[in-house]
Order: sequence, then C-alpha cells, then structure tokens
Amino acid sequence: MTPLEAASVINGDKEQSATVRELRDPGEEESVLGKVYLGDSETARRAIDSAERASAEWGGTPAPRRGRILFEAAQRLEARKNEIATLLTREEGKTLNESLFEVDRSVNLFRFYGAMCFKLGGKTLPSNDANSYVYTIREPLGVVAVITPWNFPLSIPAWKIAPALASGNAVVFKPASQTPLIATELVNALMAAGLPKGVLNMVAGLGPVVGDTLAASPKVGAVSFTGSSETGRHINGTSGKRMLRLQLELGGKNALVLMDDADIGLGVELAAKGAFGLTGQACTAASRLLVHRDIADEVVRRLGSRAASIVVGHGLEEGVEMGPLSSEDQFGKVQKYIGIGKGEAELVTGGGEAKTSKNGFYISPTVFSGVSPDDRIFQEEIFGPVLAVSTFSDLEEAVHLVNSVAYGLTAGIVSKSHSAIATFTARVNAGVIRVNKPLPGLELQVPYGGFKESGNDQYKEMGEEAIDFYTRTKSVYVGY
Ligand code: NDP
Repeated sequence: MTPLEAASVINGDKEQSATVRELRDPGEEESVLGKVYLGDSETARRAIDSAERASAEWGGTPAPRRGRILFEAAQRLEARKNEIATLLTREEGKTLNESLFEVDRSVNLFRFYGAMCFKLGGKTLPSNDANSYVYTIREPLGVVAVITPWNFPLSIPAWKIAPALASGNAVVFKPASQTPLIATELVNALMAAGLPKGVLNMVAGLGPVVGDTLAASPKVGAVSFTGSSETGRHINGTSGKRMLRLQLELGGKNALVLMDDADIGLGVELAAKGAFGLTGQACTAASRLLVHRDIADEVVRRLGSRAASIVVGHGLEEGVEMGPLSSEDQFGKVQKYIGIGKGEAELVTGGGEAKTSKNGFYISPTVFSGVSPDDRIFQEEIFGPVLAVSTFSDLEEAVHLVNSVAYGLTAGIVSKSHSAIATFTARVNAGVIRVNKPLPGLELQVPYGGFKESGNDQYKEMGEEAIDFYTRTKSVYVGY
C-alpha cells in the first residue's frame, strides 16, 4: 500500500508543517500507513480566518444549491465505499463489515442533510394586531468548529459537518489526531463535490495544542464536540467565558437489563453484540449487564461461552468478528481496567491480550460477574471489550442500578412485559432507550444525545433537530 498523507486544509490548500507523525495500523503494528503533518494554534487561527472569509457567500447561497453539493459528496463517498472502508479498518482497527456500515451511514447522512436543504425554513404565526403577521427565519451562525474522536472517524464528522454545511455555516474541522487519513477522505469528497474553498477547513493538530484556539476564538459561533467527558468539561470551561453555543457528546457507561421473562438466547446475543461489537469502543456500547437473579447463572454461563467464541483478529481478515483496540494508549488503558476488575469481581472469560496471527493491540472479549455498584469497573468508562455483570431482584432495583452511575447515554431492556418496558423507559435517566435491541445502533433520522455526564443536553445531534444547533432563529413582524 502506498503511504498516505494527511495535512491541514486551509482555504482549499494542504499545508505541510515541519511536525510530522507516523500513522500505523493498530492491528499490524509494523505496517506504516502514512503520516500526518501536524498543525498548531497558528494553523487553527488561519483556518478560522479562512472560514470566516468564506462564510458570508456560503450562507447566502440558496440552500437547495448547498444540498446538491452534499448529494454529490455522498455519491463520491459511495463510489469509493470499499476503498474508504478498507482504509478505515487499517487506520482505526474495526472490522471491514463495521467500516462498510460506517461508510454507508456517512453517505446517508450527506443525503439526509442534502434533502433537508430543500425544507430549511421557519414558521408563520398569527399576530395580535390586525393586518399583520409574524414569521421566523433560520440563519447560519457563521463559523462553527467541529471536534471529533477516533472511534467513528467518518460518521461522527459527517453527522456534524453535513448539517453545519446544510445550514449555511463555514466549518473548521479538527479530527482526532489518530485518524486523520479517513478525515482527509471526507474533506476530499466535499471539495471534489464543488464545495467552495474555505467553506470547510481542516486542522490536523493535537487537541490540547489547537483545541483552546478553536473554543476561545470570538470568530467561532459554535463548537460541536464529541469525545471524553474530561475534554468536554475542559472545553466547557474555555468556551464558557464567552457564552459560546456548545454541543457536547461525551462518555457513557451504558447498561443492558435482562428481566426474568427475557428470552435468554436473545439477551446473551444482544449483550455480546453491545459489549464486543466495535471492540467495545462505541460510546453506545453495553459495558454493564444487569441480570435478574433468577436467570443470572445461566446467562453468565452462556455469555462466557459466547464471548470466548468470538473470533479476534485483523479487521480485514475473513471471519474476524472483533478487531484490535485502536491504539497503544487504549490497549494500556483497557489492560489497566482488566487488572482492576480482577481485584474487584470474578473473571468469567478473557482477561488479557488475545493471541492472533498479527502483532497488534488485541484484547480478548472479557466478562466479569459478581460486580458490585461500588466497583470501578461498574462506574467508570473503560471503552473496550469488557463487560461487567451484576444482578438485581426486581425492576425497581434494576432501574436504580442503571441510574447509579455518572453517565446517561443509552440504556436497554430485554423483556416481554409491556409494563416493565414502559416503567423502565419512563424512569431511566438516559438519552436513548433500546428495547429488545442491542445498545449500539443509532439511526441518523433520530435525534441523539446523552444526559448527565454524557453531554450538556442542550441540543440534539442527528435527525432534523441537528439543524437547531447550527442555525439561529430570527422573528420578523410584518404589518400591511
Ligand atoms: P478525547 O476527548 O481525548 O478526544 C476527542 C477529540 O477532542 C479529539 O479530536 C482530540 O484531539 C480532541 N481534544 C483533546 N484534547 C482537547 C482539548 N484540550 N481541547 C479541544 N479538543 C481536544 O476522546 P477520545 O478521542 O479518546 O474518544 C473517546 C471518548 O469519546 C470516549 O469517552 C467516548 O465515550 C466518547 N465518545 C462519545 C460519543 C457520543 O456520541 N457521546 C461518541 C463517540 C465517542 P486529539 O485526537 O488530537 O487528542
């Protein structure tokens, strides 16, 4: 494979800085994918200036014309779907099927927000006065910054950038420094689709170096951030000083509840899919399984065998169900938590490095049982293929356990009882509830966002609701 390059893109031009970082395949450490030229805070300032210069013309472009560019970008991504998915697997580690799904979702996001361009508008309201009416219009914010993590390096940027552009904003995009190659594919597709220069700028730089410049700049009208709660809190502090419009989508410690009437086969499958799919590196992953006492022994036994049967390996290899962790840092962090788990609970299966034919950051699907609510592996986000199983006696206790962590992103229940499902849905403190379904699996037409430490919950992402974040509303009173 020819080595690839990523660099900041400012006003349509790639910038090769003196600071270069090598990019390697997390599933095959000796395989160098390419390199990234890292920008700094000065690069970020120039990216903001470039976006500011381009914003008025783009905001004034009729929305349907903006939409046609988003459709074209979708077409271009789709035409190279296999190539882009392969790169995604090599850069981030997820399996090829997971990457193909992510490319599809990104394509559909551009189509969805392309179509939204044909229906962006406000509403007309009656006035108290005679011969008068009132209407509202939506306006773009100007320049928005988008800061994204490595775990969905194509679709998270897509679900922010597509509605931002549809709404008429110019964008400064700061991708995770671990996945700049796939970010470059996204930028290239939009540029090739005819997006005017300067409307989308990318800063390939380290978060702590360029992040504050983006959050603190008075020229930036809004920041949409997805990442850890710790970084989210930091950005909130930096930007809070100037009352910036801020969207924070943060960590999770999501629970799946198996009631005593659950179909045990279904429950085990959903738990395994939620915990080990995407190598557990999904914000919506199931990292806690809460099981009714009466079925706990059987669930743990079947889950242990299911987890042990998962084929771990390089995401491009046929038959592989779970890829590596995405970096050495992740590998170290997950191993640290497995060590903590061994001291707190009972190891059912996994518990360390997985042996594969390649030299990468492979961890075995790991299940702990007998986990107590005070345990760190119950409370803290691990972001890897580690599932903590605890038991409960009734629905009341299950709801209490679901809610007894700092996060509130997703929660799920497996049951046949309508009453249990409705009570759970009403009382659980999470932004997304999944019933008899795996916890991951967001659909792009549905609003998404977490509660508590999982986000600032002021604006939703995806769905039509995403447009609310990227626009402001003006009310116009007319007499005639
Ligand atoms: P981080 O918070 O470390 O990084 C996210 C992004 O923020 C990266 O682009 C990073 O840059 C950047 N960043 C880092 N420091 C700063 C800073 N001081 N100012 C501004 N930006 C900064 O998260 P991870 O990349 O480790 O992602 C995993 C986390 O993301 C998990 O906690 C997960 O739950 C959460 N997540 C949440 C989702 C949701 O929808 N709620 C979805 C997906 C993930 P750089 O890469 O250069 O460090």
